[in-house]
Amino acid sequence: MRMKHPVYIVGGGIVGLLSARELARAGRPVVLLDRQAVGKESSWAGGGILSSLYPWRYPAATDQLLRWSQQVYPSLITALVKATGVDPEWTVSGLLILDANIGEVEANFSKNSHFSFERVNAVQLAELEPALAIQPESALWRPDVAQVRNPRLIEALRRDLVQKGVEFREDVTVTGFSQKQGKLAALHTNQGVFPADQCLAAAGAWTAGLLEKTGLMLPIRPVRGEILLLRARPGLISHILLKDYHYLIPRRDGLILVGSTFEDVGFDKSTTAKAKNELLKAAVEMVPALSDCPIEQQWAGLRPGSPDSVPFIGEHPDISGLFVCSGHFRNGIALGPASARLVADLMLGCEPSFDPAPYRLTRE
Ligand SMILES: Cc1cc2nc3c(=O)[nH]c(=O)nc-3n(C[C@H](O)[C@H](O)[C@H](O)COP(=O)(O)OP(=O)(O)OC[C@H]3O[C@@H](n4cnc5c(N)ncnc54)[C@H](O)[C@@H]3O)c2cc1C
Repeated sequence: MRMKHPVYIVGGGIVGLLSARELARAGRPVVLLDRQAVGKESSWAGGGILSSLYPWRYPAATDQLLRWSQQVYPSLITALVKATGVDPEWTVSGLLILDANIGEVEANFSKNSHFSFERVNAVQLAELEPALAIQPESALWRPDVAQVRNPRLIEALRRDLVQKGVEFREDVTVTGFSQKQGKLAALHTNQGVFPADQCLAAAGAWTAGLLEKTGLMLPIRPVRGEILLLRARPGLISHILLKDYHYLIPRRDGLILVGSTFEDVGFDKSTTAKAKNELLKAAVEMVPALSDCPIEQQWAGLRPGSPDSVPFIGEHPDISGLFVCSGHFRNGIALGPASARLVADLMLGCEPSFDPAPYRLTRE
């Protein structure tokens, strides 16, 4: 299809940025719109673990995107560092799951058979993480789990996209869409009307609200997560440690992220004393030495929650040219590359890299 206008992307989180990259690499002129500076919402706030926390609890559709993304992350990071000089610190730190229910894991293992686990006993655990205080009945080690520093990843992507000719309009709030005979005709914004033939809605937790007036009701809702940032000595812990959905993520410079809460409070991004206490308690229970570490920061972000944690990726059922990629919930950084590839395939009219059916917008 011949396009009269550039492709518009609404939302400059990880999903919008990676999608812009796929489209720009395919030669499409791209304009990325955000109502603020890009990468200031969930994609900035997240922890940057490149895996789901308990992978056996996720459907195969999430697993497929995760596996593909895990494979491409190393080359993506290498390309970004080379192009921009910004290093997102992709690091294979491994993940220790300290509350694994072995029966549950084994029962669901075949569904996610590409995940490699090793069961570790108390002696092995102490060797892997000497600062750890708890001695769980059964722990699992996933040595291949990697992490990134997502604010740096976003900055690297932003610079790379500028080099690739993507136009950034960071002052534009998209308020709606108009169509002519079932085809996208224009985006309506606080800066006027932009005639358009293709657009991608990648507005994170705000995607459902953005599309409501088009008649598409997506069950994407904000789920607040809070994180504490502690300053520890580098090397105090080396793995990502996980227990009861609370985790510690050690960065190379000694900073440790303590995540995260799960709060159903609408679009409220406030931080709370309750969350601070909950996260500190979990951190100190795992690693008592953290009780002496100063708290550098506390923040909150809004995950784009979807009912089954499977993102919505596809074309609007009634408006051709209007696409959606959103609802990545707790895993948008981990699933980003594959999601962006799939939506770009659909927008470019290429053979899709994966079966798009599990992600369609009108699924039950
Ligand atoms: C505490 C926490 C921890 C997390 N940890 C991890 C983790 O370890 N690993 C992982 O993979 N994921 C993690 N996540 C989830 C991950 O951060 C999200 O799934 C992901 O960032 C979603 O990206 P997005 O691009 O869809 O949305 P966002 O990053 O929220 O971006 C949406 C963008 O759209 C813009 N926008 C919204 N409405 C409009 C409009 N009308 N007009 C113009 N622009 C608009 C916003 O300004 C924003 O820039 C975590 C999230 C939180 C909150």
